[in-house]
Amino acid sequence: MNESRVTKFYPNRMGLIILQAMEEVINRSGVTAVLNTAGLSELIDQYPSNDLKLEFSFDTVSHIQAALDQLYGIPGGRGVALRIGRACFKYGIREFGSLLGLTEMAFRLLPLTTKLRVGGNAFARLFNRYTDQRVRFDEDESVFRWQIDVCPLCWNRQSEQPACQLAVGLLQEALYWVSGGKIFNVEETHCIACGDEACTIIISKNPIS
Ligand SMILES: [Zn+2]
Repeated sequence: MNESRVTKFYPNRMGLIILQAMEEVINRSGVTAVLNTAGLSELIDQYPSNDLKLEFSFDTVSHIQAALDQLYGIPGGRGVALRIGRACFKYGIREFGSLLGLTEMAFRLLPLTTKLRVGGNAFARLFNRYTDQRVRFDEDESVFRWQIDVCPLCWNRQSEQPACQLAVGLLQEALYWVSGGKIFNVEETHCIACGDEACTIIISKNPIS
């Protein structure tokens, strides 16, 4: 218990990816406004370095999410976070793709559901191995479940609605990439910020289109 009192971290590289993705979605001036609002102005001219040192704190990640809500309102801020999540995947796959092992031909030839299973497990392993975020990936007949037990996005936050839209966007884009352009229903149904045990994102196994 009291995990929330212990400081947890993302590697610098993930912090850098988040800031780059933010620039793509809300421009440099938007990032500056968000960082000022979040009380993180020291980051404006000093982005994290591109390495795997665990130095980008979960407090920093969640303060950025809270600042998006503050600046853009709800649901506006959540929509922006979703788009930032999608952009994070694009930058992330460039930096972490080789660690995932999903670009090999053998992977590309798997049937779709198997691909999603293998991809989801590899993605969860990446977070569990290189970050303090804890993810479980499992499934039943119709859905995959991405469960975040230690979540940087809503770290020490309280919210009426699930607050981890960045993760939803990240998974949407990951699914699009893994499936070769298909769209899946992805929804956060539970969130630690709402008092739930884990942030739970449900992914339909069958694409919408
Ligand atoms: Zn969360």
